[in-house]
Amino acid sequence: MKSSLESGEPCVRHRCVKCCIETEMPLTEEDIRRISGLGYKAEEFSVRDGEKFRLKNKFGRCVFLTDEGCKIYAFRPEGCRLYPLVFDDSLKKPVLDELCPYREEFGIKRSDLERLLRLIEKL
Ligand code: SF4
Repeated sequence: MKSSLESGEPCVRHRCVKCCIETEMPLTEEDIRRISGLGYKAEEFSVRDGEKFRLKNKFGRCVFLTDEGCKIYAFRPEGCRLYPLVFDDSLKKPVLDELCPYREEFGIKRSDLERLLRLIEKL
Protein backbone atom coordinates (compact mmCIF):
# COMPACT_ATOMS: atom_id res chain seq x y z
CA MET A 1 0.00 0.00 0.00
CA LYS A 2 1.51 3.32 -1.08
CA SER A 3 1.33 6.48 1.03
CA SER A 4 -0.11 9.76 -0.15
CA LEU A 5 2.27 12.66 -0.65
CA GLU A 6 0.50 14.78 1.94
CA SER A 7 0.79 12.08 4.61
CA GLY A 8 4.61 12.26 4.59
CA GLU A 9 4.34 8.79 6.10
CA PRO A 10 7.53 7.29 4.52
CA CYS A 11 9.52 10.33 5.74
CA VAL A 12 8.33 9.81 9.31
CA ARG A 13 8.69 6.01 9.26
CA HIS A 14 12.27 6.16 7.95
CA ARG A 15 13.13 9.25 10.01
CA CYS A 16 14.32 10.76 6.74
CA VAL A 17 14.98 14.48 6.22
CA LYS A 18 17.18 14.09 3.16
CA CYS A 19 15.29 16.64 1.06
CA CYS A 20 15.77 19.25 3.81
CA ILE A 21 19.58 18.97 3.54
CA GLU A 22 21.17 21.47 1.13
CA THR A 23 17.67 22.22 -0.11
CA GLU A 24 17.17 23.98 -3.42
CA MET A 25 13.41 24.20 -3.03
CA PRO A 26 11.96 27.11 -5.04
CA LEU A 27 9.49 29.46 -3.39
CA THR A 28 6.44 31.02 -4.98
CA GLU A 29 5.28 34.53 -4.04
CA GLU A 30 2.42 32.83 -2.20
CA ASP A 31 4.89 30.69 -0.18
CA ILE A 32 6.86 33.80 0.78
CA ARG A 33 3.69 35.65 1.81
CA ARG A 34 2.37 32.72 3.86
CA ILE A 35 5.68 32.14 5.69
CA SER A 36 6.24 35.87 6.23
CA GLY A 37 2.79 35.93 7.84
CA LEU A 38 4.25 33.76 10.62
CA GLY A 39 6.56 36.63 11.57
CA TYR A 40 9.70 35.70 9.62
CA LYS A 41 11.44 38.27 7.43
CA ALA A 42 11.81 37.07 3.81
CA GLU A 43 15.61 37.39 4.02
CA GLU A 44 15.65 35.04 7.02
CA PHE A 45 14.33 32.10 4.99
CA SER A 46 14.77 32.87 1.29
CA VAL A 47 17.66 33.50 -1.08
CA ARG A 48 17.55 34.90 -4.56
CA ASP A 49 18.29 32.43 -7.34
CA GLY A 50 18.40 34.43 -10.55
CA GLU A 51 14.91 35.84 -11.09
CA LYS A 52 13.43 33.54 -8.44
CA PHE A 53 13.68 32.74 -4.77
CA ARG A 54 14.39 29.50 -2.97
CA LEU A 55 14.57 28.26 0.60
CA LYS A 56 17.67 29.26 2.51
CA ASN A 57 20.07 26.78 4.09
CA LYS A 58 21.89 27.35 7.35
CA PHE A 59 24.82 25.05 8.14
CA GLY A 60 23.82 22.95 5.13
CA ARG A 61 20.21 22.41 6.21
CA CYS A 62 16.94 24.16 5.49
CA VAL A 63 16.61 27.04 7.98
CA PHE A 64 13.32 25.56 9.21
CA LEU A 65 14.65 22.06 9.92
CA THR A 66 14.96 21.27 13.62
CA ASP A 67 15.70 18.03 15.48
CA GLU A 68 11.92 17.61 15.75
CA GLY A 69 11.40 18.12 12.01
CA CYS A 70 10.11 21.05 10.00
CA LYS A 71 9.12 23.92 12.29
CA ILE A 72 6.70 25.42 9.77
CA TYR A 73 5.27 22.10 8.59
CA ALA A 74 1.66 23.27 8.24
CA PHE A 75 2.85 26.36 6.35
CA ARG A 76 5.63 24.76 4.30
CA PRO A 77 6.21 25.68 0.62
CA GLU A 78 4.04 24.02 -2.00
CA GLY A 79 7.13 22.33 -3.50
CA CYS A 80 7.85 20.64 -0.13
CA ARG A 81 4.23 19.41 0.03
CA LEU A 82 4.59 17.78 -3.38
CA TYR A 83 8.12 16.41 -3.04
CA PRO A 84 9.38 13.82 -4.11
CA LEU A 85 7.11 14.58 -7.08
CA VAL A 86 9.05 17.04 -9.25
CA PHE A 87 8.98 18.22 -12.84
CA ASP A 88 11.86 16.86 -14.93
CA ASP A 89 12.84 19.66 -17.31
CA SER A 90 14.72 17.40 -19.71
CA LEU A 91 11.94 14.79 -19.91
CA LYS A 92 9.25 17.51 -19.78
CA LYS A 93 7.15 15.48 -17.38
CA PRO A 94 6.54 14.91 -13.66
CA VAL A 95 8.73 12.23 -12.06
CA LEU A 96 9.53 10.95 -8.58
CA ASP A 97 12.91 12.47 -7.72
CA GLU A 98 15.70 9.89 -7.72
CA LEU A 99 17.30 11.68 -4.78
CA CYS A 100 14.48 10.49 -2.50
CA PRO A 101 15.48 7.01 -1.26
CA TYR A 102 11.86 6.09 -0.49
CA ARG A 103 10.16 7.53 -3.59
CA GLU A 104 8.62 4.17 -4.52
CA GLU A 105 6.58 4.23 -1.32
CA PHE A 106 4.58 7.28 -2.43
CA GLY A 107 1.42 6.95 -4.48
CA ILE A 108 0.73 9.79 -6.91
CA LYS A 109 -2.83 11.00 -7.49
CA ARG A 110 -4.12 12.95 -10.46
CA SER A 111 -4.68 15.93 -8.14
CA ASP A 112 -0.95 15.85 -7.17
CA LEU A 113 0.01 16.06 -10.84
CA GLU A 114 -2.40 18.95 -11.36
CA ARG A 115 -0.99 20.76 -8.32
CA LEU A 116 2.56 20.26 -9.62
CA LEU A 117 1.67 21.70 -13.01
CA ARG A 118 0.03 24.70 -11.33
CA LEU A 119 3.15 25.16 -9.23
CA ILE A 120 5.42 25.07 -12.28
CA GLU A 121 3.32 27.81 -13.86
CA LYS A 122 3.75 30.00 -10.77
CA LEU A 123 7.53 29.56 -10.58
S1 SF4 B 1 13.94 12.50 0.82
FE1 SF4 B 1 11.93 11.47 0.47
S2 SF4 B 1 11.53 10.17 2.27
FE2 SF4 B 1 13.21 11.59 2.77
S3 SF4 B 1 12.15 13.33 3.81
FE3 SF4 B 1 12.32 13.86 1.61
S4 SF4 B 1 10.40 13.13 0.69
FE4 SF4 B 1 10.58 12.14 2.69
